[in-house]
Amino acid sequence: MEVFARTPIDLESMHIPHGQVYIILHRCKGCKMCIEFCPQEVLQVSTDLNEKGYHYPQIAPGKEKACVHCEFCTMICPEFAIFTLEVEA
Ligand code: SF4
Ligand code: SF4
Repeated sequence: MEVFARTPIDLESMHIPHGQVYIILHRCKGCKMCIEFCPQEVLQVSTDLNEKGYHYPQIAPGKEKACVHCEFCTMICPEFAIFTLEVEA
């Protein structure tokens, strides 16, 4: 089956949400799934370690307002260690 990419004709009227990311550091096991699957590339690996000795995700420089509250990170995290809340832009 062919897939055609196009710009939605109602793009101007679409509401694109903004999310605030929350990371529960002590739950993270450093699998990086949230980082890999974020469509906005909001997250990066920390240089610091959490109390379990894992590198946790953190907001990448310049991406502080890039989260679109899609919740992929929340859905994919095996440790329930990351979530987002919708905020005003
Ligand atoms: S909610 Fe979506 S855009 Fe925001 S950090 Fe998670 S995966 Fe990325
Ligand atoms: S998916 Fe969860 S456990 Fe894995 S790196 Fe992200 S926050 Fe940590």
